[in-house]
Amino acid sequence: MATRKQSELYSGKAKTVYITDDPTQLILYFRDDTSAFDGKKIERFSRKGEINNKFNAFIMEKLAAAGIPTHFERLLSEQESLVKRLEMFPIECVVRNIATGSLCRRLGVQDGLDLDPPVFEFFLKDDARHDPMINEYHIRTFGWANPKQVEQMKEYTFRINDILKVLFLEAGLLLVDYKLEFGDVQGQVLLGDEFTPDGCRLWDVKTREKLDKDRFRHGLGGVTEAYEEVARRLGMPL
Ligand code: 5GP
Repeated sequence: MATRKQSELYSGKAKTVYITDDPTQLILYFRDDTSAFDGKKIERFSRKGEINNKFNAFIMEKLAAAGIPTHFERLLSEQESLVKRLEMFPIECVVRNIATGSLCRRLGVQDGLDLDPPVFEFFLKDDARHDPMINEYHIRTFGWANPKQVEQMKEYTFRINDILKVLFLEAGLLLVDYKLEFGDVQGQVLLGDEFTPDGCRLWDVKTREKLDKDRFRHGLGGVTEAYEEVARRLGMPL
């Protein structure tokens, strides 16, 4: 029997998560509206939910094929996907291949600088505190994850970098940085996040034009068109 949506569990910047009649599964609904700057900037883009839903499914299938365990089960409709329900760690893992965004604001390093080796950062998932930066000591002391789980999150986040950097480069795109969240189910760490241009930065390899959520954050226009361009270059069916 098909899994049915029950009550809303959580509503994020651009997706809503629903409990289902199966306690082990959730439904992600990718909305057309999106927000930035802690909800201060909100806008609706027609077809964005559908593009992100399909984009995410495409990337999750690539990651699963490369041996990364993820929560993704299958597409359910134009704007919905079925995922495994995880016990989420309240942590954001960020990898940066090129300096931009908050790294430049915090450290004053030059925007566009190649980062070799890539930089890894942890942030606490806490909107009210603007997702402060944390380290492994905070995670251990406050019990947000155990040391083995921390190692697993770092290993998967870096492996995902190796897989996706190549995938995007072959499509003429630089994977600048991205954020991922993980969760636990029956003692296993799984990727429990979507991967879309809302949670990563992608630049054209030649012109360094921004083709991600920074177009919305910085009011550059052409948000949906940029996401569609990325999808087209990856050969994704839309
Ligand atoms: P920064 O720390 O420079 O603002 O963001 C680093 C990377 O993580 C960017 O690709 C950004 O899109 C992503 N990121 C950071 N925080 C969030 C968040 O709360 N939600 C989403 N979707 N992505 C985030």
